[in-house]
Amino acid sequence: MEIDFEKLEIAPFLLKGLEKMKITTPTQIQQEAIPTILRGEHVIGRSKTGSGKTLAFLLPLLSKVDEANKELQAMILAPTHELAMQIYRVVEELVTETNIQIDVFIGSANIKRQIDKLKKQKPQVVVGTPGRILELAQQKKLKIHQCKMVVVDEADRMLKERETRQAFVEISKRMDKETKYMFFSATISDELKIDIEALIRANATLISSDEKIETEKVQHEFIKCDDRDRIDTARRLIHSLKVTRGIIFVNHLDKVVETTKKLQYKGMKAAALSSESDKQQRAKVIQQLQNGEIQVVVASDLAARGLDVDDVTHIINLHPPVDEDAYVHRAGRTGRMGKLGAVLTLVTPKELFIIDKFQKKLGITITEKKLAYGKLYNKA
Ligand code: ADP
Ligand code: MG
Repeated sequence: MEIDFEKLEIAPFLLKGLEKMKITTPTQIQQEAIPTILRGEHVIGRSKTGSGKTLAFLLPLLSKVDEANKELQAMILAPTHELAMQIYRVVEELVTETNIQIDVFIGSANIKRQIDKLKKQKPQVVVGTPGRILELAQQKKLKIHQCKMVVVDEADRMLKERETRQAFVEISKRMDKETKYMFFSATISDELKIDIEALIRANATLISSDEKIETEKVQHEFIKCDDRDRIDTARRLIHSLKVTRGIIFVNHLDKVVETTKKLQYKGMKAAALSSESDKQQRAKVIQQLQNGEIQVVVASDLAARGLDVDDVTHIINLHPPVDEDAYVHRAGRTGRMGKLGAVLTLVTPKELFIIDKFQKKLGITITEKKLAYGKLYNKA
């Protein structure tokens, strides 16, 4: 029997919202997470990037919001400004037909204006970065202690990084015992589950939709090159494959700008997406990629986490990512919702063992390719 959103018993206004978004069939993580969250359990949700985790927590969370209760009822925490904005826009779309009051608080926005807004309108649902939400709570501008639901998106990153972890810990200390927590990411280890349960002092139900990376839809490839030829190899790849919507990942923040400049110098339509550039700048870059004004974005892992950019066709790893989790997150930028995509990793002979490791740990095949005469060939 096919499961649809109606059977999942989410609020009727959400069914209408989904219809407008042309979303008809719940993904696996949505099928499993929605009833569990509705039952009021703490949940840890793990599923690959692009599998619809945002709606997996938003639909049950918004179903539980009581419009008549004017207090803050739900918080959604995200590690970056873009991700918070992206989630906020989905919330906005879903609640348009209701009177549910929502707001977004991110660190880069003017806090005074946020405080003024809070004086006029108390939100029932907020999305934001944990640092700014904590700041508003500490200044007693946002009352969070009675909040019933807290979502932590990209939970592994949020809890691994010192600042966001600290902010989350402080926020959770202010919460009621009854507060329910939801943690989501594509990569959640056994240790992280233990860590989470210690932080919230309760057991959480792990929901894991086990398809790791959708192997049929995404091709994984690697190309050998010397360390000093990485940027040029990337450039030749973009040219040969006629990439119109790609992301180049670099391992170090300080390489983002350098790589972008070198590509631009060679005539590529490239732009940098760094976690250091300001909010407007980053939003603009994402938009330019979407509408075709630029063909590749150069990004750090941090800048790209969780972003839902449609139809990215190629991911180029200028260096092999630091570990298999990072590979999964990068690869998840392409092949979303069953579309085709390719991940190309540039490796020096010394780094070859990393490709082996990724293949074993992720259960995928990464094929060697060679770039010659402006074309990509199989090694054999
Ligand atoms: P994740 O957080 O797992 O990486 P997102 O929540 O960002 O994924 O969703 C990725 C894309 O899939 C979004 O554009 C979203 O609108 C779309 N999507 C979510 N759920 C469904 C569904 N059930 N059917 C079709 N598309 C969906
Ligand atoms: Mg997500």
